[in-house]
Formats: sequence, C-alpha cells, structure tokens
Amino acid sequence: MGLSCAKCGSTEILTDIPVISDNLPTGAVSALAYRRPGARVFKRPITHPFLARVCGICGFAEFYVENPKGLLAVAKQVDTDV
Ligand SMILES: [Zn+2]
Repeated sequence: MGLSCAKCGSTEILTDIPVISDNLPTGAVSALAYRRPGARVFKRPITHPFLARVCGICGFAEFYVENPKGLLAVAKQVDTDV
C-alpha cells in the first residue's frame, strides 16, 4: 500500500481505525463544521468522524476525517446531496 510510519518508518500501518471517545461510548470522535447562519438548510452542526492510521510498531497515530470533501462542502456552504 506504500504507507509508512512518519516517525519510525515501519510499513506496519493499520488504517481506517475508528476513533471512539471513552466519555461518549456510542460516538465517534469527529470533526465538526457549522454552516453559516444564513444557510437555509442544515443549520445544525455537521460531523465527520475521524479515522486513524496507527503504526503497529511505535504506535504513532494520525487522524484523518472520513469525508473531507463533505466537511469542506459544509464549511463552504455548497449544496450537496447529504
Ligand atoms: Zn512507527
């Protein structure tokens, strides 16, 4: 897959690991975007769960938003089929 750890260089990378909060067992830790107040629809916050890439050797973890284009669309208030 070509992935390697940014810290130790290992290629033992685990991908798409859900990031779950101990304080909120039912919820994934998520990035959150608000549409601007003038938005006609979806004024509530829109969340996009984080997925982690974890190095299986040293444990270094990176977080990626599951749907970055969706988050960008909300932030820019572009109408999408969500
Ligand atoms: Zn590593």
